[in-house]
Amino acid sequence: MKDTYRHKGLRRQLVETLRQKGIRDERVLQAIEAIPRHFFLDKAFEEWAYQDKAFPIGNEQTISQPYTVAYQTALLNVQKREKILEIGTGSGYQATILAALGGRVYTIERQELLYKRTTKLLAQLKIGGIRTYLRDGYKGLAEFAPFEKILVTAGAEEIPEALKNQLKVGGVLVIPVGDKVQDMYKITRLSEQEYETKKLHQFRFVPFLKGVNKEE
Ligand code: SAH
Repeated sequence: MKDTYRHKGLRRQLVETLRQKGIRDERVLQAIEAIPRHFFLDKAFEEWAYQDKAFPIGNEQTISQPYTVAYQTALLNVQKREKILEIGTGSGYQATILAALGGRVYTIERQELLYKRTTKLLAQLKIGGIRTYLRDGYKGLAEFAPFEKILVTAGAEEIPEALKNQLKVGGVLVIPVGDKVQDMYKITRLSEQEYETKKLHQFRFVPFLKGVNKEE
């Protein structure tokens, strides 16, 4: 896979678009400028990789729109070496952005096909700092908890208790909640028992589904 000057130029324009749409976090913008999004898309969509749009990645799933990736990543405020749990590996693009910011990323996918494909891609691209798991994200990843940050990239009907429990005190969970349209929630764990919940802007995500979907 090649990252040409043309791709780099398109990424600079994308970053400008995101700035105009209100993304202010310079570290996040730098990560988006650095990571070739076209590596994570089907060849057929390569030409459109730097538009601010979501695209199909197979199994009726999509790679999130760059604006959404930037918005969620900015809310997480990732610091170097933090343990981050991502629910919904999908293409691996969001996980790669989190790793580029210095996070140690644990990412869960429920679709076996996507899990396998993305695990292979991340290895091929030699992207370090990301571990992939075929699991049901509703349950989180108890054996590696607690996490400083947890990011859900599918639209949930409710906030899973397991994910709140797997947050470190002081940690942050970012999750879109709702049926057809989702409100972005930022939940901060203040102590063992207390959480602060902030409801933010509206987005549209593919649904957060229960159970693992094995490849036939
Ligand atoms: N972060 C992804 C966007 C993926 S779209 C990217 O950067 O490309 C959301 C993903 O969440 C889909 O791949 C979907 O299969 C997955 N998903 C939905 N419900 C899930 C669950 N319960 N556990 C794990 N993954 C889930």
